[in-house]
Amino acid sequence: MAYPTAETAGMVGGFVQPDHLRAQLLSWYDANARHLPWRVGQQDHATGVRADPYRVWLSEVMLQQTTVPHATPYFLAFTERWPTVADLASEADGEVMAAWAGLGYYARARNLLACARAVSNDHGGVFPDTEEGLRALPGLGPYTAAAVGAIAFDLPTNVVDGNVERVMARLFAVDAPLPNAKLELKRLAGELVRSQRPGDWAQALMDLGATVCKPKSPLCERCPVSRHCAAKAEGAPETYPRRTAKAARPHRFGVAYVLTRGDEVALVRRPPKGLLGGMLALPTSEWRAKRWSESEAIGAAPAPVKWRSAGEVEHVFTHFSLTLQILRAEGDAQDVIWSPHRDMGGLPSVFLKAARVGLSSAA
Ligand code: SF4
Repeated sequence: MAYPTAETAGMVGGFVQPDHLRAQLLSWYDANARHLPWRVGQQDHATGVRADPYRVWLSEVMLQQTTVPHATPYFLAFTERWPTVADLASEADGEVMAAWAGLGYYARARNLLACARAVSNDHGGVFPDTEEGLRALPGLGPYTAAAVGAIAFDLPTNVVDGNVERVMARLFAVDAPLPNAKLELKRLAGELVRSQRPGDWAQALMDLGATVCKPKSPLCERCPVSRHCAAKAEGAPETYPRRTAKAARPHRFGVAYVLTRGDEVALVRRPPKGLLGGMLALPTSEWRAKRWSESEAIGAAPAPVKWRSAGEVEHVFTHFSLTLQILRAEGDAQDVIWSPHRDMGGLPSVFLKAARVGLSSAA
C-alpha cells in the first residue's frame, strides 16, 4: 500500500522524524494536558507519582462510548462510594448496576464487577502490572489493558481507540476505509510508541484527538504536529478517516407498561444475559419490527387491568432504534417488584424516559 510509514510521514511538510513528532506532541501535552480527576498532575508525575490503576481502569471503562463530561460525575460518585477496588468488589450487584444507570452498555457494568472481584480475590486487590496480566482479567479488552498498562504502569503499550485511529488516519492520510483499516492504523500508531514516557504519550494522543483533531472540524491551526500531517497537506483532513457506508440501523417497536399501585411502580429484573441484562426495568412486550396495535399491546400486558395509551418515547441503541409505546394503568400484578416512584433514578435511561411519560399521565 502507498501509505507513508512513520519514518517517511514527516516528509510531507519538511523532513521530520517520528521522534521529532513525538517531542512536539509531548511538549504540547506538558503545557496543555487536560485536568481529569483520574489523572496525576504533570508535576506530581515528574516526581515519580503514578496514577492509581483502579482509577485509571474505572475511568477507561466508563469512557468507552461516552464523553468525559458525561462520565466524570459517575467517576466521582463511584470513587467516593467505593474508593478501592476491594470496596467495589464487595458491593452487591444491584447497587453497582443502579449506580451505573445512565452510562449505558450494561454488560460493561457486569464486567466491571467481575474484574473488580478477580483483582480483589485472585490478586490480593492489586492490579497486575503487565499487559498480559491485565488482559487476562475478565472483561478487559486489548484497548483497556493497553491504556491501564501505559497510564498506570508506564508500559510502552500501543493504546488505540477511535480518537487515535482518527489522528493516525490523518497524519498518514490512510485511504483505506474503516473498519478494514483498523489493523493498519494500529500498526502506524505502534511505530510511534517508545519506552520514554509511554503513559504521557498515550494521554497526549488522546488529548490531541479530543481537543484538537476533532472528528468533524479539526483545529489544524492549533495542532502541534500539523507539519507532519499528510491529510492537512492534502487540504481536506476532515475527510479522514474514510469509512465504508453504514447499513441503515433497523427500527423496532415495543410496549412498556407503567403499572402503579398507590405511589409504587411495577418493575421487573431483566434476564442476566442480553440487552440491559440484569437491570431493573419496566415490564415490556417483545421488541419487533412492526408497531403494536392497542389490542395486541393489551394482550401482552403483565396484568389484566384497564390499560390506556399514555404516549411513546424514542431511544437509540447501538444496533437499532426503538419506539416504546407506553400503556398506563393502576392495579395489582404478580411477579413484579414494587418500587416507589421516587426510586426510578436507577432505571436505564430508556425506561426512565418511559416511566416519566407514563407517570405524568393519569392512570
Ligand atoms: Fe489533525 Fe489537523 Fe493536526 Fe492533522 S494537522 S493531526 S488533521 S488537527
